[in-house]
Amino acid sequence: MAKKCTHDCGSCTEKCSERDFRKAPHELSKIKKVIGVVSGKGGVGKSLTTALLAVTAERSGFKAAIMDADITGPSIPKMFGISEKATGSDMGIFPVLSKTGIEIMSMNVLLEDDTDPVIWRGTVLAGTVLQFWTDVIWNDVDYMFVDMPPGTGDVPLSIYQSVPLDGIVVVTTPQELVSMIVKKAANMARKMNVPILGIVENMSYVLCPDCGKKIEIFGKSAAEALAKEYDVRNIARIPFDPSLTQCADRGLIELFEGGYLDTFFKEIG
Ligand code: ADP
Repeated sequence: MAKKCTHDCGSCTEKCSERDFRKAPHELSKIKKVIGVVSGKGGVGKSLTTALLAVTAERSGFKAAIMDADITGPSIPKMFGISEKATGSDMGIFPVLSKTGIEIMSMNVLLEDDTDPVIWRGTVLAGTVLQFWTDVIWNDVDYMFVDMPPGTGDVPLSIYQSVPLDGIVVVTTPQELVSMIVKKAANMARKMNVPILGIVENMSYVLCPDCGKKIEIFGKSAAEALAKEYDVRNIARIPFDPSLTQCADRGLIELFEGGYLDTFFKEIG
């Protein structure tokens, strides 16, 4: 007899968590580890953190890739100054390479015009993201970072179910930390049995340009408490840093000199 769904979704008769929906990557892909970068809502710096993670991985001697699953708001190619389009063959689609060799796939390297809106329903969006996993030939990747769509909707759910994530990094801001939204995103990972590798608190403070003092404009950091609650590591507190925005806006994120995420790769080994 079919078992009752324990997730109360009402749409299936067996326990979802016991079924394996995971898809294999393209047979020519070589990918060692896949890390999702998630946030509760948009605008907290999730894409910027994804880009910095990939840049830091390359600087630490690893081969990095970014799968930009934020299909309706793809900002990764712009941060890397990528204007060329992806190419393909009978075998599959090839990611675009950044200046330092980071493999990148994003909706914006497929669209003719970067400003074209993607007006698709959730199921089509999710299908496209899965193709980034199954149909793209990822050449040689130690760490793939998946820039997940914000929130806990259809597309993140489909990624959790279909892409074998080794863990997630949660990006948040001090204001968002006091809300429930970021906890929903963290709880989603837990329900899907994906380990939370740690929390990045972005726009955590500003440094006074005159005396260098840390000014916590949004009040005291709540990241510590959140990390404790979820029994995870506090990876980094990234300040609001105008040179970061400048590098990102000019497509020069690979030239950003700060090392806010340097310890991450040492810690995860
Ligand atoms: P999300 O992916 O969460 O929607 P983004 O990474 O696109 O957010 O960031 C939104 C905007 O904020 C971008 O213009 C980005 O350059 C800027 N930004 C994010 N984090 C910082 C930071 N720590 N310092 C300065 N600007 C930042």
